[in-house]
Amino acid sequence: MDELRQQDPELAQAIDSEAERQRHGIELIASENYVSSAVLAAQGSVLTNKYAEGYPRKRYYGGCEFVDVAEDLAIKRAKQLFGAEHVNVQPHSGAQANMAVQLATLEHGDRVLGMSLAHGGHLTHGHPLNFSGKSYEIHGYGVDRKTEQIDYEEVAEIAHKTQPKMIICGASAYPRTINFDLLRTIADNVGAILMADIAHIAGLVAAGLHPSPVGVADYVTTTTHKTLRGPRGGMIMCSAEQAKNIDKVVFPGVQGGPLMHVIAAKAVAFGEALQPDYRDYMRRVVENAQVLAEALTNEGLRIVSGGTDNHLLLVDLTPVNATGKDAEKALDHAGITVNKNAIPFDPKPPMTASGLRFGTPAATTRGFGPNEMRQIAVWVGQIVRDLSNKELQAKVAGEVRELCAAFPVPGQPEYA
Ligand code: PLP
Repeated sequence: MDELRQQDPELAQAIDSEAERQRHGIELIASENYVSSAVLAAQGSVLTNKYAEGYPRKRYYGGCEFVDVAEDLAIKRAKQLFGAEHVNVQPHSGAQANMAVQLATLEHGDRVLGMSLAHGGHLTHGHPLNFSGKSYEIHGYGVDRKTEQIDYEEVAEIAHKTQPKMIICGASAYPRTINFDLLRTIADNVGAILMADIAHIAGLVAAGLHPSPVGVADYVTTTTHKTLRGPRGGMIMCSAEQAKNIDKVVFPGVQGGPLMHVIAAKAVAFGEALQPDYRDYMRRVVENAQVLAEALTNEGLRIVSGGTDNHLLLVDLTPVNATGKDAEKALDHAGITVNKNAIPFDPKPPMTASGLRFGTPAATTRGFGPNEMRQIAVWVGQIVRDLSNKELQAKVAGEVRELCAAFPVPGQPEYA
């Protein structure tokens, strides 16, 4: 960092400020995490210099013998972690992994059934502004109004009616266990391909804390930077039979040169996730989410679906008459980072939203446990009940900073 500060102080200042924000604030964005120093070292390595179009031992460039080692390690470890027959570790992002699977299996105009964004699905599952929504005829399923959980009977009914070529499951804001076996049966009954996007829950799946769709769904996609705690990126898992087709669509279909420094960092993260302490970490992530849900309920807030089975929770702010937009801003002033989120059947537009999404992966990585979760809930309760109280926000920001000082963030040795 010292060299960067000398050469480009303006940019270095932005990085230093972000490092400070990550250290002194409480990160509760469900899709974020803190990577280890080892992951950072691999990602910041000279591997960024290398072009390696193609796959290990079948490259379009010379000099790939060492980046081949990195990609082989990433593939081997991912296979071991998820029990997958074939893994492609090259997608630059989760969106690109989903795009590759859809391009490999669908024709323009084909019918697709995905979880609607308003009920927790992702843009790449069929939003009208996304390539998926522009390319395919999208039908949506959601959650039951009463239970706020996926209504599998309704999914089966819609599938029967629409006869989709593909059913997409997996979500960005769904706090409950997903029944992949049931979705497999629904897909089989209408002859549809099943794609499971486990971007959010990949870490739970790897740790055996959520049923795995590997070997159940035809294609499994994920990001590597959320609960998996690796570098930003994507990955696809499928059967050996589909391997060639998927690899061909990732490169040269939708990407050029793979990001070898990122692939190396993926290998490091997968190696970490294979260690016994990673399972314990994921267990604590879920425990923290459940404690936080209960403590926020005690503060008078309503938890969508009544609780959580995974790393995230959706909080309905209607009981305290606050919007997600205002609450997100007020909490930000207090050093608590969350994102506004629509709740199922939300009467408010998405940019205002009635809810907040909380996730515990990052806070758990820095060592927060049940006591810290209860403390966070008290702060959140105070702030959302009194949104315009700037004094309170400043006071909480000071207390947050004090708490954070006792829990160093990994990957920031030079700031320790
Ligand atoms: N799929 C799901 C379920 C997600 O939640 C996300 C990101 O939030 C993605 C895909 C896309 O990942 P990326 O942001 O890496 O494109």
